[in-house]
Amino acid sequence: MTRLWNEPADFADEMIDGFVAANERYVRRVPGGVVRSTVSPAGQVAVVVGGGSGHYPAFGGLVGPGLAHGAAMGNLFASPSTQQVYSVAKAAEGGGGVFFSYGNYAGDVLNFNAAQERLRAEGIACETVTVTDDIVSATPDEKHKRRGIAGDLTVFRIAGAAAAAGADLAEVTRLARLANERTRSFGVAFTGCTLPGAEKPLFTVPEGRMAIGLGIHGEPGIDETGIPTADGLAELLVARLLGEVPDGVQVAGARVVPILNGLGSLKYEEMFVVYRRIAQLLTDAGLELVDPHVGEYCTSFDMAGTSLTLFWLDDELAALWDAPVDTPAYRRGSVAPQQRLVVADTAATVAEAIEPGDEASQSVARTVLAAVRTIVATVDEHVDELGRIDAIAGDGDHGIGMQRGSHAALAAATAAVDAGAGARTTLAHAADAWADKAGGTSGALWGVILNAVAAKLGDTGRPDPAAIAAGVAAGSRGVTDYGKAEVGDKTLVDALVPFSTTLTGAVDAGASLTDAWRTAADAATRAAALTADLLPRMGRARTHGQNSVGTPDPGAISLALIVTAVGETLAAETSLKENAHG
Ligand code: ADP
Ligand code: MG
Repeated sequence: MTRLWNEPADFADEMIDGFVAANERYVRRVPGGVVRSTVSPAGQVAVVVGGGSGHYPAFGGLVGPGLAHGAAMGNLFASPSTQQVYSVAKAAEGGGGVFFSYGNYAGDVLNFNAAQERLRAEGIACETVTVTDDIVSATPDEKHKRRGIAGDLTVFRIAGAAAAAGADLAEVTRLARLANERTRSFGVAFTGCTLPGAEKPLFTVPEGRMAIGLGIHGEPGIDETGIPTADGLAELLVARLLGEVPDGVQVAGARVVPILNGLGSLKYEEMFVVYRRIAQLLTDAGLELVDPHVGEYCTSFDMAGTSLTLFWLDDELAALWDAPVDTPAYRRGSVAPQQRLVVADTAATVAEAIEPGDEASQSVARTVLAAVRTIVATVDEHVDELGRIDAIAGDGDHGIGMQRGSHAALAAATAAVDAGAGARTTLAHAADAWADKAGGTSGALWGVILNAVAAKLGDTGRPDPAAIAAGVAAGSRGVTDYGKAEVGDKTLVDALVPFSTTLTGAVDAGASLTDAWRTAADAATRAAALTADLLPRMGRARTHGQNSVGTPDPGAISLALIVTAVGETLAAETSLKENAHG
């Protein structure tokens, strides 16, 4: 239960403002998150972490000397957008390249990768290690699919310590990868969490029961038992983690950092009682316990629950673990006093000026604006239904995510048209605003789709139907490149691919744009409905696949609804009609 907020939609932003106001000694605000407010040595690798908000002290609370240089901070439980990640990384970068690390979630991977590509295209070296510590979320032979939970801390800390010691980007990456290989976690929960303004928790655990293997975004557990005693819980956590020791580790005599993490509303006192037994069990197993942590390191809003992480040290990692850290929420050892950074100007945040389009393209831009307005109306009308479908196997935020994204796109497109922008610029601004404000997987993908279409519209003249079909095809390829889903994986790709191929086919066969679009939208609608029969293999829904059979994929449904409605707008507008050429 959360009790205090103003406008729920502003919660994350206002939280970050307050966090920065309270921690100016450590952090300063930049678009998309925070970076250190202190001077880092020139040429030092910048460690950039991040993810959705609602996990404090992850991720902003971990920015400071010895740990991260910057944190991209998304909306509550929503990945930061590509633009947010990019902007934080640009601000944090100090000539040594950027090392990204974050928990392995589809939306985060998408947006961090896209930001990384942008930075690389600008000549900034980047590397990434995603954290995959949660042993419940995939089997050992699919370790790379596991999600990241409280193990974030060990990987971030090793990367931060290596960067502070002057390691180059390749070396920071090697060490962080090693840390991730040697970090394993397992968690349980007693209640779900309730986001500000929400009427219900994201999931519930029946009274007196305990969910096993929960996620940190309200993804329900994979199993349920009665609540054990504190000692019983300690025994469960330790047994599961000793059942999966990293390769090459000899348990007897091994050094291990135990981290008992509270997820939000479990009491420290309860955790100490549990930890007492954990320490006994680990010692009995022959382990040497190093620097135990009991506290909150990665929370899930107000969820009552806990996870145990074991970080298996070797000599190299043990030396780095000793390095001092000083951040708003996490301190170890003593860090020499830091020099405050004087920020000359924040001009970089001023919006780029809009180049006006020619008259024909301005008229197409007005059609683009009408189409975006249609998208907003469509999403608003179906917002509850999309949320309901997403809650069955996902996290229930698809409706509100699409709403945030499309409304931001409309504001951006309106501003662009008012400034005389052509079609490309108008749609590209809408695309970036969508991806920036929506968060989550689908927001990033809609940014990719709309940017691809925008590129073919141009800022001069009128695009012909073939150019628009080519833009949609490029968007469809972009989505599969970024998200790696194929047809049949139960994602929006299942609606987008038939939409695109039907559109291209009909345009090639000589149909008008309006007719081709309508045929293609019908194909998307049929394909979206058929996703009900599929098992999800990508995205958040993957872990709870069985629940979703019989329900269609929310992203495919919203895409079909949108292209259908946009078809009606195109039919009513004249700027793109063939006879309007020239
Ligand atoms: P999140 O999954 O981050 O909560 P949303 O709820 O807004 O984001 O969107 C969920 C939708 O995103 C899914 O229904 C699916 O259509 C789409 N999606 C998820 N992962 C992928 C992927 N890898 N490729 C394409 N689409 C995906
Ligand atoms: Mg979702």
